[in-house]
Amino acid sequence: MATATADALSKPAQEFLARGPGRHFIGGEWVESADGRMFETIDPATGEAITEMALGGPEDAARAVAAAREAFEGKWGATSPSKRSGLIWALAEAIKANLGELAELESLDNGKPLGYAKGDVAAAVSHLRYHAGWATKIEGETIPFSAPDVLAYTRKEPVGVCAQIVPWNFPLLMAIWKLAPVLATGCTTVLKPAEQTPLSAARLAELIEEVGIPAGTVNVLSGDGATGAALVGQPDVDKVAFTGSTAVGREIGAKCGRELKRVTLELGGKSPNIVLPDADLELAIKGSYEALYFNTGQVCNAGSRLFVHSSQYDEVVSGLAEAAKAARVGPGLDPETELGPVVSAEQHERVMGYIAAGRDDGAELVAGGGTPDGSNGGYFVEPTLFSGATDEMKVAREEIFGPVLVALPYDDLEEVAARANDTEYGLAAGIWTRDLSKAHKLAGMLQAGVVYINNWGMGDPASPFGGFKASGIGRERGHVGLDAYLELKTVIAQL
Ligand code: ADP
Repeated sequence: MATATADALSKPAQEFLARGPGRHFIGGEWVESADGRMFETIDPATGEAITEMALGGPEDAARAVAAAREAFEGKWGATSPSKRSGLIWALAEAIKANLGELAELESLDNGKPLGYAKGDVAAAVSHLRYHAGWATKIEGETIPFSAPDVLAYTRKEPVGVCAQIVPWNFPLLMAIWKLAPVLATGCTTVLKPAEQTPLSAARLAELIEEVGIPAGTVNVLSGDGATGAALVGQPDVDKVAFTGSTAVGREIGAKCGRELKRVTLELGGKSPNIVLPDADLELAIKGSYEALYFNTGQVCNAGSRLFVHSSQYDEVVSGLAEAAKAARVGPGLDPETELGPVVSAEQHERVMGYIAAGRDDGAELVAGGGTPDGSNGGYFVEPTLFSGATDEMKVAREEIFGPVLVALPYDDLEEVAARANDTEYGLAAGIWTRDLSKAHKLAGMLQAGVVYINNWGMGDPASPFGGFKASGIGRERGHVGLDAYLELKTVIAQL
């Protein structure tokens, strides 16, 4: 397996790292943790430390929330919608101008292939541009009253200070999904990137400063799960937005419930991907491969349960096995790489544990299952495909968050819909067919926040995203995504 390290970075990315160690960005200042604690961020392709970052504690969280409050009640609160729109657009342009550097940092920190990292940065730019448009279009309504001489109307007001916690699978893009509606609605925020991948958010904070978004509007607090918990626990936080595991989401949801803080949660999944008998099989095989192995399977809406009609099961499974065996696994910064490492040693151990469980339960390994030769301390996993599993096996029920696909045969539509829905999750579902009327019928039967027909994973800043059941609460993107950052006030005047 080829190797590529931080030496492969461009000059701007090397200069960014040379400016380290990473600090928090609070109230427009770059500060260390109050107790001086640091942590290392690791290159998943080598297992070696890239740099050190500040590890935030409760004191830092309180300081960041106070800075966000001050900006909300001060400069940012007084910034007009059109000015906010211009600043969001300016941030999009700054990100675009630094696309290569941001993608390199993302690839280095997360392990994803550089080409995909560039795609993430480009998606972040589009997301901001879409929200730049919304800043000037947040409108209330006039309400018709039956009683005479009443003027009633609604106002949409920013919810206030937000705590936003993002995961490590799409670090920059998830940060932008969080920040864009904050900036559009006039809220302020403390953003906490994941401890595995703090680099792109630190660079993003530099760009936020550079484009002139007022100090305190966006604060970046680096740290781990305890940092996130300290942030959520701050009494002056009005709204929490979290993307991550269902286990942590439940904890955060419970905390917010107790304090009646607004909360949106984007959590895990075990999404069913259904190939109907009349599907274009070539397209379905290619699409189902991407549905799971994209980003090394570290995607909340990964199509991890592949249901194939029995008549075509063998053909689809062998097509996928062939593609999985041919995939070039390697470091993200190597241009030949198609599948990067998983993000951390912990994640590697977890994924390997699931593969062992699948074997022990009697599922048949038709591709992968191991750590590739020449991993050299990197957290690589072969793209893995199980056949012969039952719906009850751990590999078919639990979210693995790695490159492990489970193929399951079925015989009829009602049966597959019931099995697809037999999960605690409900994030995404996929349908491959040439019969669009059947596809829409099935789309109505599936319990999922998003249903893909003849594609997997398409999205747009305008298309809502989020889950049914244990996959979350609320939606991001689109105009409904903005509502999570707005309070609705009804004003009733007797004239
Ligand atoms: P994973 O298990 O895939 O790493 P997590 O849900 O643990 O996913 O992490 C997602 C994000 O949530 C990260 O930024 C992490 O630091 C943060 N986090 C983890 N635990 C907590 C917690 N108890 N409270 C708040 N944030 C947390």
